[in-house]
Amino acid sequence: MVTAVDLDAREAHFRELEPLTYDYLVFGLGAEVNFFGVDGAPEHAFPLYTLADAVRLKEHVLQNWEAADRNPDRIDDGALNIVVVGGGPTGIETAGALAELYHGVFTKDYPDVEPEQARITLVEAGPELFPMFKPDIREYTEEALAKRSVEVLTGEVVESITPLRVRLKSGTELKAHTLVWGAGLQGNQLVQSLGLGLEKGNRIGVDAELRIPSHPEVYAVGDVAAITDQKTDQVLPQLGSVAMQSGEHAGETIARKVSGKETKPFKYRDKGTMATIGRGAAVVQMLGGRTMKGKTASVAWGTVHLALLPTNEDRAKAVVDWAGAGLTHQRGARITVET
Ligand SMILES: Cc1cc2nc3c(=O)[nH]c(=O)nc-3n(C[C@H](O)[C@H](O)[C@H](O)COP(=O)(O)OP(=O)(O)OC[C@H]3O[C@@H](n4cnc5c(N)ncnc54)[C@H](O)[C@@H]3O)c2cc1C
Repeated sequence: MVTAVDLDAREAHFRELEPLTYDYLVFGLGAEVNFFGVDGAPEHAFPLYTLADAVRLKEHVLQNWEAADRNPDRIDDGALNIVVVGGGPTGIETAGALAELYHGVFTKDYPDVEPEQARITLVEAGPELFPMFKPDIREYTEEALAKRSVEVLTGEVVESITPLRVRLKSGTELKAHTLVWGAGLQGNQLVQSLGLGLEKGNRIGVDAELRIPSHPEVYAVGDVAAITDQKTDQVLPQLGSVAMQSGEHAGETIARKVSGKETKPFKYRDKGTMATIGRGAAVVQMLGGRTMKGKTASVAWGTVHLALLPTNEDRAKAVVDWAGAGLTHQRGARITVET
């Protein structure tokens, strides 16, 4: 693991190895959760940015249901309620998935629990969900969430969190023993020790060739980089497609430099954006602005994600898993694992 980088000495330091000097360096450190200073969030919120985060959240939710089953008084105190913060893809996909878990799996396991005793509330500070998508997609998303009994609060800001309550700036207090944080990212904390002036969200600013202007032998790619799209003049979003294309470009550029060839500026190829809200409910916005919603978009989402898996074995496993889930309307939802 890299513990520090001395840009002036061109030296990387590791936890397990002796320091290494470099001719070229690429930062692809990714991003981490940003709690924006919300009181109680680092201690009590459940971020959802890694597999370990997802497993931790699932364990917590399962434990809450089991505890409420043993002691139903906990239900009135909000033990089964979940607040999800963030109306972007992470928050919406999480709220949709949790709603399927609640209404598809838990209603069968816990038939005595009424739907209003296990509420999922999505809180977004801005005026609408999915601001990066077109209005028809936003409208469809609201309907799809409502159909899954997800309550949406827009224009509401989370002020503080305790283990059992979520307080909004408007003064409303929500009874919820689980708060999922999908409200924002910042560049990996290592970048703060580099002595660079960072861009919004602690991301490293780069030039058209993805280099750090003050250290042109150093590149930054993916979520940790603030890459300006040459076409739109906007900073590109923290997406897998940006990470893959920028990583490939930095690698190619270094190879060209080493072999004395001319280098080219990075040009992002936007292949569209997609998100899934639940079973048979996805949204796709294609290059040029065309949109797809519902089952067709779900099939497109599945096809693209299958294609992105690294091996045919992974693809086969995913198809078997999806087919099983589709036929039985069950997933391995109640299986808990050690991490
Ligand atoms: C819940 C969720 C859903 C998403 N869904 C989509 C989607 O549908 N489509 C899409 O395009 N994008 C999606 N994204 C975004 C996408 O995952 C990221 O944009 C992409 O992974 C960024 O790639 P990266 O290589 O920059 O960073 P990462 O994938 O975060 O990789 C960084 C790597 O660096 C390692 N690292 C960090 N610090 C150190 C260190 N000090 N030393 C050594 N190694 C270190 C980390 O362990 C990690 O493996 C999603 C993200 C989340 C959180």
